[in-house]
Amino acid sequence: MNGETNGHLPTKQRAAQFHPKDKSVHVNEIPVPSIKPDEILVKVRAASLCHSDLMLFEPNDQGLVLGDGEPFTMGHEACGTVVQVGDEVKGFKKGDKLGWLPIVDCCFDCEECQIHNLYCERGESKVQGMTVDGYFQEYCAIKWRNAVRIPDDMDLDACAPLFCAGCTAFNAVTDTLAELPGKPDSTWVAVIGCGGLGHLAIQYLKAYDYRVIGIDLSPDAIAEAKASGADHALNPKSGSDYIQQVRKITGKGCHAAINVTNSVPAYSSTPQLLRMNGVLMVTGIPQKPLQFQAMDISMNRIRVRGSNNGTTPRLEKCVKFSHEHGIKPHVTQFKLDDFEETLKLMESGRHKGRLGVLFD
Ligand SMILES: [Zn+2]
Ligand SMILES: [Zn+2]
Repeated sequence: MNGETNGHLPTKQRAAQFHPKDKSVHVNEIPVPSIKPDEILVKVRAASLCHSDLMLFEPNDQGLVLGDGEPFTMGHEACGTVVQVGDEVKGFKKGDKLGWLPIVDCCFDCEECQIHNLYCERGESKVQGMTVDGYFQEYCAIKWRNAVRIPDDMDLDACAPLFCAGCTAFNAVTDTLAELPGKPDSTWVAVIGCGGLGHLAIQYLKAYDYRVIGIDLSPDAIAEAKASGADHALNPKSGSDYIQQVRKITGKGCHAAINVTNSVPAYSSTPQLLRMNGVLMVTGIPQKPLQFQAMDISMNRIRVRGSNNGTTPRLEKCVKFSHEHGIKPHVTQFKLDDFEETLKLMESGRHKGRLGVLFD
């Protein structure tokens, strides 16, 4: 730890920062943030990378605005321990273990904030780690209304992925299951993409007793799907016709398919995995618009639905369910000093589960 201590807290810390001007990443020394009355200062235990972090380095059509041009700390998926609470904070105290969502400067109360705080009617929402400082730093300031306590007997070191991948997967699964009236053990759900998000979606579906087919182009992700409990795991690149295989396994196709990829072609072929009246859950976000045959959607009465990482009340349910059912994110962790290499590994796609940083 660098810097002078103010009471028990240092004044300086290290942070993995994105430099918008040349899209580079450096571990910089920056001040430990001072908190506002509605904020909690957290000592970060673990932070992990999400595919959407890579959007910082790509041209995008989603209107992502990268801060004000100054370097900012990356990361929007983390967990840690409370070291300080602001005067307005309710229900959290020093020493609590917690995780949280990354949207700040929203009101948390309007109609839009009940679905997603990014679309708050105020129009001032920002994403920590995307436009303002995120969590690949030793200490971070978070809004108390984004925070959820982590039970003491959960392994804090492995919890970080629950706070973006986990809650996104949990919401996609519960939003999908809400559309499916049949008995779980005779209802088939495909998970397209079995990496960081998909391996958790599979674990949640299996915890609910559904039949699951994982689909992915990467042999590592196929192994991950199997390790996460998928009844079948199919690789479209394997040579055999995976759509035929899905029909053979399920009879008439899956009742639902949850697509967590950022791939337009993966979305385009998803309707073919579904039976009539099936549910196509849009969760992964490709940079380009999706393309479907309207004929497939209309004649088969496919229900296209959306889901996202959600709000704090839903995050609470996700953490509770994950605790009760022993859901475990698979995460490979590095030191903050190795952040650039971790990022390169993420870009290469040659890794299983989640990649992240474990702090001292
Ligand atoms: Zn994320
Ligand atoms: Zn709002």
